[in-house]
Amino acid sequence: MLKVENVTKYYGDKLAVDHLSFEVKKGEIFGLLGVNGAGKTTTFRMIIGLLDMTSGKITLNNKPIDYSMTDKIGFLTEERSLLTKLTVFEQAIYYGVLKGMDKVQIEKKLDEYLEYFHISDYKYRKIKELSKGNQQKVQFITAILNDPELLILDEPFSGLDPINVQLFMDVIKQLKEKGTSIIFSSHRMEHVEMFCEKLVVLVNGKSVLEGNLKEIKKAYRKKNIHIVADNLNIQKLKEIEGVEDVIANETETIVKIASQDHVKKVFNFVKQCEDVSKFVVEDASLNEIFLEKVGVIYEG
Ligand code: ATP
Repeated sequence: MLKVENVTKYYGDKLAVDHLSFEVKKGEIFGLLGVNGAGKTTTFRMIIGLLDMTSGKITLNNKPIDYSMTDKIGFLTEERSLLTKLTVFEQAIYYGVLKGMDKVQIEKKLDEYLEYFHISDYKYRKIKELSKGNQQKVQFITAILNDPELLILDEPFSGLDPINVQLFMDVIKQLKEKGTSIIFSSHRMEHVEMFCEKLVVLVNGKSVLEGNLKEIKKAYRKKNIHIVADNLNIQKLKEIEGVEDVIANETETIVKIASQDHVKKVFNFVKQCEDVSKFVVEDASLNEIFLEKVGVIYEG
């Protein structure tokens, strides 16, 4: 289990991480969220010991993280850090050996993952000849070759198309099943929502929201009602007490209400319409919660 306790980081007099605490248990997927400059990369770098913290404590299985644990950790850095003159195979051997694996074991794992990601043909090609997305796959593979106990993924999906995002997610879920603790950062709330159980949202290095995703969504009082009905009077809907906004799009109307308590009034109004084919109350999206907590326009 990874434990981050009361960690603070100053760069000179610039406060980058402010008394941050969280835990990632075995087999858990944890999201570290925040806008640019919130302190995510700094936190990751402190976890793997690339950067000293100003104060606080970070442990993996109750021990401070040091060089001797390299073989237990996988790290996909935000700034892609491949040795571009090497071939994919040479790169895997280089990192695999650093993580204490033997060459036969490395090649076996590499072949499996190259096949899974449909890039077996690139095994003996130089990294610099690969497309950006394929370079990212190679970097991801080198981070997970050793079946790490702790996997840190800094913006793992940036620049990937939806099909490859899904391939990455499926591998991440398999690693979770095997017991890997996974911590990742992302700007894309829909990715976080898809497979993350716990999260912390950072603003200026400080946690403004944290906990279990389902509980966060449940506790957030605002709800959205999705309606499909003929002759829905948008103006009248807006006048109902507790209705904060109404968004009519091509396929449905979304009524944003202050809390579950206002559902009945909206329902009573809508049922007078002709041909109501949809009336569904949903929790707010993580993006909406994020926007309110962070208080800035989020550019996903
Ligand atoms: P992004 O999403 O843009 O990658 P981030 O959440 O990873 O951002 P960090 O890179 O951790 O944020 O930066 C946190 C803060 O610390 C920012 O204000 C940044 O300008 C500052 N910072 C980061 N590295 C340094 C450094 N080497 N020296 C001084 N300040 C730094």
